[in-house]
Amino acid sequence: MNPIPFCDLRAATAPYADELKAAAVRVIDSGRYIGGEECAAFEADLAACTGVPYAVGVSNGLDALRLIFKALVLLGRLSAGDEVIVPANTYIASVLAVTDAGLTPVFVEPDAGTLNIDTSLIEDAVGPRTRAVLTVHLYGRAAYDAALADAVRRHSLILVEDNAQAIGADSHFAGPWGNTRTGSLGTAAAFSFYPTKNIGALGDGGAVTTHDARLADTVRALASYGSDRRYHNIYKGYNCRLDPIQAAFLRVKLSHIDSETRRRRHIAALYDSAIANPDVITPRIDTPDLSVWHQYVVICRHRDALAEFLHANGIATDVHYAVPPHRQPCYAEYSRLSLPAAEALADSVLSLPIATVSDSEALHIARTINLFRP
Ligand SMILES: *Cc1c(COP(=O)(O)O)cnc(C)c1O
Repeated sequence: MNPIPFCDLRAATAPYADELKAAAVRVIDSGRYIGGEECAAFEADLAACTGVPYAVGVSNGLDALRLIFKALVLLGRLSAGDEVIVPANTYIASVLAVTDAGLTPVFVEPDAGTLNIDTSLIEDAVGPRTRAVLTVHLYGRAAYDAALADAVRRHSLILVEDNAQAIGADSHFAGPWGNTRTGSLGTAAAFSFYPTKNIGALGDGGAVTTHDARLADTVRALASYGSDRRYHNIYKGYNCRLDPIQAAFLRVKLSHIDSETRRRRHIAALYDSAIANPDVITPRIDTPDLSVWHQYVVICRHRDALAEFLHANGIATDVHYAVPPHRQPCYAEYSRLSLPAAEALADSVLSLPIATVSDSEALHIARTINLFRP
């Protein structure tokens, strides 16, 4: 078998190449290279797909998160020094957005079964200055349930979703607006369209979704120099817009979201049925499936040896993430925290190829894993 890459972006793009080229030509011929109809149409598509009234296209996923927290501060719903509960097992961008707005992250340990925030620990993490929860639907799995919703309601917290990895996922537990899709469960949600995400641009891209018109307006103004109309600046803002050419590409990608999610779920089910090695723990698959499988993450005490073994057999893997945010050099102030569950995951998680593998490649990967002996 040929070497299997972790994610082959050329292969991921190929099925949509004709549609993407037509979209690019449309933008080139339009003469409109900032804002305009492509952006508005993509925002309408994303809002409809998510089940919210407002979507705002922005420059990337980190900016989406930063704009949400900054807007909440400007609207007086959060203030500097307020605490935001965040999962200890997440990509660092989630935490960067919190600290960028002058807010204080409170790290909560992951659940060993879901690898997402352990929602049963949220209640105990709430202190007098806690005002918000940032839930991260990590690896594509919805992180929203009764325990989370109850804690948010009881303490009147603001819920923000980091939906960078989980576009199209369903929590099967309705949020306050009656919807179950990730991106519609909290006050606002951030999306990333980084090329390797389930819906990827051909460059950077992001979005904010919300049920709240004022929040949507504030995010949109902040992303455009803080202006609510031309040359009228109500905030000290930024330039964080989504390019129309990326919006046009994303309209193409978004129109295929159901087949993309189906394919990822199919590969996850294949792995689940074919991997049988007592040293390798496969991720939980719920019925109905809560995940859109941005990553398929196994746990192995001998992770580095397993990765080395697969590499020697022509199979690329990746680690999400080898160092938890509180152990990164930029967060030296949190380096003394003891978060043993998150730290153990960082040493034992291994992501298998899922974005662009065929059925036969997935079976080959599973059989190779079954031959691994530490
Ligand atoms: C990718 C990602 C981000 C950041 O998105 P960018 O578009 O790369 O800025 C934020 N949070 C999570 C969980 C991510 O996976």
